[in-house]
Amino acid sequence: MKVILANEGLANEGIALLEKAGFEVNLTHVAQEQLANFINKNEINGLLVRSATKVNKEIIDACPSLKLIGRGGVGMDNIDVKHAESKGIHVINTPEASSESVAELVFAHLFGAVRFLPDSNRNMPLEGESHFKSLKKSYAGGVELRGKTLGIVGFGRIGQATAKMALALGMRVIYTDHHVTKASLDISFFDGQSVNFTLEAQELESVLKQSDFVSLHVPAQEDYVIGKKELEMMKPGSGIINTSRGGILDEVALVEALDNDHLAFAGLDVYESEPHPEIQILMNPKISLTPHIGASTIEAQQRIGMELAQQVINLLN
Ligand code: NAD
Repeated sequence: MKVILANEGLANEGIALLEKAGFEVNLTHVAQEQLANFINKNEINGLLVRSATKVNKEIIDACPSLKLIGRGGVGMDNIDVKHAESKGIHVINTPEASSESVAELVFAHLFGAVRFLPDSNRNMPLEGESHFKSLKKSYAGGVELRGKTLGIVGFGRIGQATAKMALALGMRVIYTDHHVTKASLDISFFDGQSVNFTLEAQELESVLKQSDFVSLHVPAQEDYVIGKKELEMMKPGSGIINTSRGGILDEVALVEALDNDHLAFAGLDVYESEPHPEIQILMNPKISLTPHIGASTIEAQQRIGMELAQQVINLLN
């Protein structure tokens, strides 16, 4: 019987599918240092991970029983894909499954930030009536999203899912992307009607200068996509949301831009240093924080579980 280790969990629907197809599913969470030993001892054939487990060269070389590595999600930066594939190991992911959930998290940060929810949640428990009144006064400058311009950097699956939600809210959407020069977006409503929007890419600088809010949706890369220079190009008083990867946004430059009031807020789901984001990020009252939960919805996890399981069955059976 083939054994699959789901080191960071797997939705019940995925487990059921695998078991029905004759696989044994091991749900132990094994610490990074013990991973190679555990895989060897239990003769694991398929290793399923999310973003925390590092499947590096050492693990791959030390585990001859491994035939497949599966990433529940999009980014493969925690897996040495090239090395795995050079040894004939299948490497799979679930690129489509989490787009809607990540896009909704963008709006959770955005709606929250423009009405000061993170700051309000931190401050309201502190004192009594006069405090309540002074907070009410300081949060009087909230704004609506409708009619504002959302600039999207990286117009792939999640960038486009975010754009559709923004358009449905009555926002103007502009974007930049290295490859997607033109995009046709169909927005479907609950009653079956749909509306089509066609958008054309702009230069990064043009997007940054025009946007009231900027949302980042590019994959991990060597350099910052948004560093000090790019933050300075952003419209004064605007906000930035990063749900893609920590290393693409310069956090030191971000804190500076928030502290000198060039930017009004940031919403972060991902950090340069995970799982221990810098204290300057954690304690900044203008930053809305979530702990890398973009894909952590019941629906996305069900889709991820089913998609991973089906690919495992197709490849290993
Ligand atoms: P995708 O590959 O569909 O889209 C990425 C787009 O970015 C591509 O169109 C590409 O051409 C463009 N791009 C790359 N580098 C660029 C640059 N420097 N400037 C402009 N455009 C650039 O990817 P996706 O599925 O939309 O995922 C986007 C990001 O979201 C990934 O980094 C992924 O890891 C991350 N993600 C995060 C979570 C979370 O939990 N927060 C969950 C899923 C995905």
